[in-house]
Amino acid sequence: MSLDQAAIDRLAAAPVAPGRLLIEGQWLPGEAGENPVLSPIDGRQLTTLAAASPADVARACASARAAFEDGRWSRLAPSARKAVLHRLADLIDRNAAELAVLGVRDNGTEISMALKAEPGSAAATFRYYAEALDKVYGEIAPTAPNILALVHKEPVGVVGAIVPWNFPLMIGAWKIAPALAMGNSVVLKPAETASLTLLKLAELALEAGVPPGVFNVVTGPGRVTGEALALSPDVDVLVFTGSGATGRRLLQYSAQSNLKRCYLELGGKSPNIVFADAPDLQAAAKTAATAIFRNAGQVCVAGSRLLVQAEVHDEFVSILAETTKKMTVGNPLSLATQVGAVNSLPQLEGNLGFVADAASEGGQVVTGGARVLQETGGWYMDPTVVTGVRPEHRLYREEVFGPVLAVTPFKDEEEALRLANASDFGLASGVWTANLSRAHRMIRGIRAGVVHVNTYGGADGTVPLAGTKQSGNGADKSLYALEKYCDLKTAWIQL
Ligand code: NAD
Repeated sequence: MSLDQAAIDRLAAAPVAPGRLLIEGQWLPGEAGENPVLSPIDGRQLTTLAAASPADVARACASARAAFEDGRWSRLAPSARKAVLHRLADLIDRNAAELAVLGVRDNGTEISMALKAEPGSAAATFRYYAEALDKVYGEIAPTAPNILALVHKEPVGVVGAIVPWNFPLMIGAWKIAPALAMGNSVVLKPAETASLTLLKLAELALEAGVPPGVFNVVTGPGRVTGEALALSPDVDVLVFTGSGATGRRLLQYSAQSNLKRCYLELGGKSPNIVFADAPDLQAAAKTAATAIFRNAGQVCVAGSRLLVQAEVHDEFVSILAETTKKMTVGNPLSLATQVGAVNSLPQLEGNLGFVADAASEGGQVVTGGARVLQETGGWYMDPTVVTGVRPEHRLYREEVFGPVLAVTPFKDEEEALRLANASDFGLASGVWTANLSRAHRMIRGIRAGVVHVNTYGGADGTVPLAGTKQSGNGADKSLYALEKYCDLKTAWIQL
């Protein structure tokens, strides 16, 4: 959708109501009080957010469990669930401007990107799974003639969903939509610094006709609210997007509680590989810049390791640096902004720490490297390109999740592949070459959930996003995601 600046500014001037918990269709305060919500745009308080205590979380999970057991959603005809999810998608579209602006004020994503990536993709996701839900069939197994064996696909029960602060609506929808489509109940725990649009989504879900108790939202700190959700014996499946450190904890909580299945979509350090025979170096450099710097680098699939073939390295870095210097960093509510705010002050400080470490390890900061626009009170960083980064450097190995690009030269295809795979992560990647055979060899060789060729980003909901290695397990998006939200049941019948 498009929106003019005056309309954005009008929406951005509206006060933001305090966030409450949604349990059994009721908006409630949190037993653990409330926390301030600071806007990354200017560091000022935007509103407050209810902090759910473990007892609040237990109530939300019990409500989801009761709703699942009594069948108010789980045993509805698929056509009825489909109608509700379509209504929800329509409501998201109708409220898209408000959702996009609220999200930007909360988490700092550029408005031009938020308009597309947040309500736009959330509505598309609800429509996709609304359409998919009555096309999921069970099976008859090829058994002996005196047996009839059926494989049923059943909802798992209660899904706990814990999501991060980048693209909360999009990533939230990737989990909530297929979970609800298959008839499950959901308890959602949004990130502390990006809960507001998901609370609005929950309001729209009630309006669309999702019955009370089927979709509950608990807000609050990860180590309290998130931990209680992950430990809950009422949660059958936990779906998570966030950092590897939290992912590890969730596996421990699962082991300590009811062995709930955990699906983890984690971080990345994705290689974007430019061969000298790339069809258009200018286009590749522009895309390489947006692949890392959009949303101030806070994108899980960001192309954060740029591998460039030695013979074009200097030329490519010079085009890239020029492109980067021209990018407009600033207030994410401005349509002219290309690089918005960093989500929080600790995140910004962490980004700067990576640059300092890279410089001390021998990397060269070609452009950027500093905090900017400090006078606004907000959290902004100049997009940063560091060359001479080697596999043993911290900047090569660890995810920054900020606007910092590590550049490394390579000699030939074999070295490119070795460097690409020299990472604990395996989320995304990109290959720029005019040689079709080389492109296919690289697609086969790179260990990652996505390989982009002569482009970077933009993979839509028809395809899975499924990390390998320490980038996670299971898939978001596409029909493959439905597998997380179903149990298989065999009926073995003697004829
Ligand atoms: P995070 O792990 O700090 O937080 C994610 C969520 O987990 C938040 O809701 C947080 O409150 C909660 N949490 C934190 N500690 C918890 C605990 N002990 N128990 C339960 N819940 C807890 O991650 P983040 O900083 O919000 O997000 C950035 C990370 O997410 C990056 O690593 C990024 O790559 C990753 N990410 C991955 C994908 C993907 O699809 N693979 C997409 C987006 C972001």
